[in-house]
Amino acid sequence: MGTYRDDLTPVSRYQNLGARSVRYIRSLDAVPELTPEEREALHGVAERFAFRTNDYYLGLIDWDDPDDPIRRLVIPHPDELRDWGALDASNEASNTRLPGLQHKYADTALLLAIDACGGYCRYCFRKRLFMHENAEVSRDIEPGLEYIRSHPEISNVLVTGGDPLLLSTARLERLLGELADIPHVRMIRFGTKMLAFNPYRVLGDERLQQAIERFSGPGQRIYFMLHFDHPREITHPAREAVRLLRSLGAVCVNQCPIVAGVNDDPAVLAELFQLCTNVGCPQYYVFQGRPTAGNEPYEVPIVRGWTVFSQARRGLSGLSRRARFVMSHATGKIEIVGVDEERIYLRYHRAKDPADEDRVIVCRRDDDAYWLDQLEPVELG
Ligand code: SF4
Repeated sequence: MGTYRDDLTPVSRYQNLGARSVRYIRSLDAVPELTPEEREALHGVAERFAFRTNDYYLGLIDWDDPDDPIRRLVIPHPDELRDWGALDASNEASNTRLPGLQHKYADTALLLAIDACGGYCRYCFRKRLFMHENAEVSRDIEPGLEYIRSHPEISNVLVTGGDPLLLSTARLERLLGELADIPHVRMIRFGTKMLAFNPYRVLGDERLQQAIERFSGPGQRIYFMLHFDHPREITHPAREAVRLLRSLGAVCVNQCPIVAGVNDDPAVLAELFQLCTNVGCPQYYVFQGRPTAGNEPYEVPIVRGWTVFSQARRGLSGLSRRARFVMSHATGKIEIVGVDEERIYLRYHRAKDPADEDRVIVCRRDDDAYWLDQLEPVELG
C-alpha cells in the first residue's frame, strides 16, 4: 500500500499525492477471489478477448455479490463467446488514413497511440486492438503528426488507443510539445479511463502534472474525456485526481456507454451524473453500446437505453442533465432524441458526410433493435 492521504486537504500543485503503485494482473489465475471452477469456465473467454486489470480496481469489487457492477466491468463472462456483433462495429478502419491516425470529421483527428489500457472493459468496442497485431495503432506518432500539420482544418486532436495515460510521461511530454507547435490545433483531448482504473497515474507523477499545466492554456486547451461507468469507480483518489487535473488548467468531462448490469438503472445513472457534476467532470455523452463481437451480455436495446437515460435525467438540475445519448455509427454520431409509442427520433450530431449534418431520421419503433441498421426508417410525407 502507498502513502495516499485520505483527508481533504486542498491539493497543492506538483505534489506526489499517491505513491501507491498498482500491480497489473493479466491472468485469471492471479485473481484469488475467483473459485477454481469459475477460473476454469472463464479461461476460454479470456483467451478469445484479452483480460487485464489491477489490484486497485479489483479492490473495488464486492466479491460477495455475484452481480457486482465493478466485477461485470472487468471479469469475463461466459456469454461473451456467443456469436454476436462484429469486431469493428462502426467501421473505424474506413477512417484510418495511416497507421495510428483516423480522420472522420474534418475538424477532428484521432491519434491511436497505444494498444493497451489500464484494464480491459469487457464491453470494449475496440477490443480488436488488444487481440492481434494491427495497423490501426502506431506508437510512432510522427507520421500522424505530419498528417495533422498538413491539414489546417484539424482543430481538435483526440489522443486515444487504448489509453494514452499508459504511455510514458516522456512520450506524453513529447507529444504535447509537438502539438503545441501546430498553430491550427486548438484542443487536445485525452480519452482515458485511467482515473477509474488507476488514479495514482496522475496523483503520483509530478512531471506529468507539470506537462499538463505547461501545455493547457487559452491558446490550446487540454481536455480529459474521462470514463467512469459507475459511481463506485469515483473513489476518493479518483476525485482528487479530477481536482488535480482541473487545478492544472485542464477541463474534465465524463462519457460512458450504457452497460447492462452496470449502469442500466435510472437511479445508478442519475447518481453517476450527479456525482460527475459535483466532482467537476460533468457527463458529456452517454453512448448506445456498439454491437461489437463478444458484447452481447453488456448491451441493451436502443429503446431501453433511451428509457434509462431519460428517466435518469428526471429530477436532476440542468447542470447534471447536459449529456446527449448518442450512437457512434459508421456514418456519424447520431443523437437519440426521443421515443414515443410508434417511433424513434434521431438526429445527426456529427456527420461523416457534411450533407447529413443535423439531419433528422425518424424510424419505426422497434424495442429489440440495438443499432441504427436494424431500424426501419419512416418516410415522412
Ligand atoms: S478504457 Fe476504453 S479502450 Fe480501454 S478497454 Fe475500456 S472501453 Fe476499451
